Amino acid sequence: MGDSIGFKGVLSDLGGPTANMYKMTCKSPTIEQACRKLSCVHPGICENLVTDHGPLIKLMKRVREQPGVKKVLIASGVRYDLAEKSPEFVRELAKHHVGGQLSVAPEHVSPRVLEKMKKPGIAAYERFAERFTCASEAAGKEQYLIPYFISGHPGSTLADMVSLALWLKARNLRPRQVQDFIPTPMSMATCMHLTGIDPLTMQPVRTVTDLREKKLHKALLLYWDPAQQDLTREALRKAKRLDLVGHGPRALVPPPDPRAARKNAASGRPQRRTP
Ligand code: SF4
Repeated sequence: MGDSIGFKGVLSDLGGPTANMYKMTCKSPTIEQACRKLSCVHPGICENLVTDHGPLIKLMKRVREQPGVKKVLIASGVRYDLAEKSPEFVRELAKHHVGGQLSVAPEHVSPRVLEKMKKPGIAAYERFAERFTCASEAAGKEQYLIPYFISGHPGSTLADMVSLALWLKARNLRPRQVQDFIPTPMSMATCMHLTGIDPLTMQPVRTVTDLREKKLHKALLLYWDPAQQDLTREALRKAKRLDLVGHGPRALVPPPDPRAARKNAASGRPQRRTP
């Protein structure tokens, strides 16, 4: 490995799309053959899934002991619902494989949106975050989780986005990179986005297709950004949550600045309707 041309000894992401499902499989081929479930990890981790992180921990150790390897990072893709089954994995991860920041993707906090995404509940993320912080402290390292969230996913309403914004504010989190939902081929979410129906239940699903509404959803994630606050106020008005516009500790955005409105009026610039 050390002889590879251009290799400087740093592996930037050992895990790939899912960092901690190495050698995880159904406990019995017979059970697996008869199984008709769509997922081994949703809703909830199947009792028949072997969630032993031992083979992965051995692999991580072997890779970092290879001659010429200086650092082996796991940058993203940790399934925190599985990770919480192995405190040893979290310790190894925090001690050896994080370069200051670890990206994780809770995506949302609303149970009904997470259900559409087939993701674990936000409580699993919170437990993982606590364990990761403790493991980092024990390893004497200052490092952070970077949680990613998505706006405009099928199933998500303005009320769900308000809940997400409040969750972020309560934790003093200010996401800078916000993903707005983009339909991609062959995914269940795209099917819901285009048809407005959940193909698993055949029940209607709320979707966001209007460009302005998509912007409002996204603005709630960026509520802390002054450049987004007109949109955030508009979103809160539509969500009937004007109680969150103000200067109090719970408020997401301040009221509009009357000086800016006067300046816009004087310049003849069209004014957005604000609460
Ligand atoms: S869902 Fe459960 S029973 Fe089915 S294949 Fe996965 S682990 Fe096995």
